[in-house]
Amino acid sequence: MGKRVAKFGGTSLASAEQIRKCVDIIAAHPDRRFVVVSAPGKRHDSDAKVTDLLYQLYEQRGGDYSSILAAIRTRFTQIADELDVSDKVDFDSEFTEIESNLTGDAGIDYFASRGEALNALVIAAHLGWTYVDAADVIRFDETGVFLDEETQALLSNTLAQYERAVIPGFYGATASGVVKTFSRGGSDVTGALVARATQSSVYENWTDVSGILMADPRIVETPEPIARISYGALRQLTYLGASVLHENAIYPVRQVGIPTHIRNTNRPDDPGTWIQSEPFAGGSLEEASPPPPHKIVGLAGRANCQGLTVRKVQWSGSLGVGAQLLQLFDEARIPVDLIVTGVDSWTFIFRGDASALKTVMEKIQLLGPDSIDIHPSLALIGIVATGSVPRAKIATEIFQALSQAGIGVQVDSAAESMQVVGVDAVRYQDAVRAIYSALV
Ligand code: ASP
Repeated sequence: MGKRVAKFGGTSLASAEQIRKCVDIIAAHPDRRFVVVSAPGKRHDSDAKVTDLLYQLYEQRGGDYSSILAAIRTRFTQIADELDVSDKVDFDSEFTEIESNLTGDAGIDYFASRGEALNALVIAAHLGWTYVDAADVIRFDETGVFLDEETQALLSNTLAQYERAVIPGFYGATASGVVKTFSRGGSDVTGALVARATQSSVYENWTDVSGILMADPRIVETPEPIARISYGALRQLTYLGASVLHENAIYPVRQVGIPTHIRNTNRPDDPGTWIQSEPFAGGSLEEASPPPPHKIVGLAGRANCQGLTVRKVQWSGSLGVGAQLLQLFDEARIPVDLIVTGVDSWTFIFRGDASALKTVMEKIQLLGPDSIDIHPSLALIGIVATGSVPRAKIATEIFQALSQAGIGVQVDSAAESMQVVGVDAVRYQDAVRAIYSALV
């Protein structure tokens, strides 16, 4: 029998009704043997995520925390009642422990982790499966740094003993049992680690959208979902602002060639998005979708960039100027997103505050440039090509689309399968729409 990991996000598990959908999904395929869960998320727009309530509980620990604690308990008892497992989870002792820790030295991560822990207990009871506490199998060091090798050994040895198990996402613990969490959204990371440790054939990440969209839906009206994307291309899009998976959820599965399948709990028949290692062709996945019909995989961008161009005639002849300039950004802790070099010019695109930039400019002045130009508000847009059409052709179409929309390109660059264009930030949304409608 094959193995799959099904990780369900907070919205998928926000209520008993939602959890039932997840249970149906689990039951629909016997390979879904390892289930990783988030804490209950929002049931509607004005609702609170349990994890946020837990952070508030920690903040209130010295004062009157009773209403927050009660709200958290009610979320779980309601779910457990509706799933008919109230007698199988000992909420009294769980909540007594949480409350007594409020006066002890348990850290913030312990409280934050309880949403996943309790949800996994409830769901394991409902499924009649083994509950494996993440504190026993996901290892961190005392300073909160995740320990990959220890975790892989612990997880694979432990899960090998069980036919089926439910594992809470988001947290783990030190060897001495102090709970530590990943950063927000970290249940995605746990899912990937469990997929690797169980040598699963696929890491299913069940969420509330039908896959990764080709463009930001706040800008483009109903963008199409991406059928298939490589881990490398996803990384490029994520870097420029697309938010889908926790960024650390890619490495463990990518490393061993396990594909990730993003799927919608509310629309389980939708094809979702496959994220795979390249090359796609001849993959062993029976479900792998046919090659995408589009010229581009998708586009992403961010509108909060600035640019700085430094020029000096004959500089190109002197070695090390580019490195020197880059180091000035480094020293000022300004992350540079893009560098475009001309014969005697260097353009740096970055995000950073004005005061840090002032220091950089002062130092550049000392190098005696002919000119320094600032582009105060730039947007960077990255377009990832599928490879079905030569990239030069894609670039031409992008420039044509932008020029037809009356948008000037201030910088451009291309690397691997990504074409990047920088436009005036006020035209950011227009530019995204123009490129999307021309190429999709
Ligand atoms: N519940 C945690 C959060 O809200 C982790 C997760 O859902 O992945 O960030």
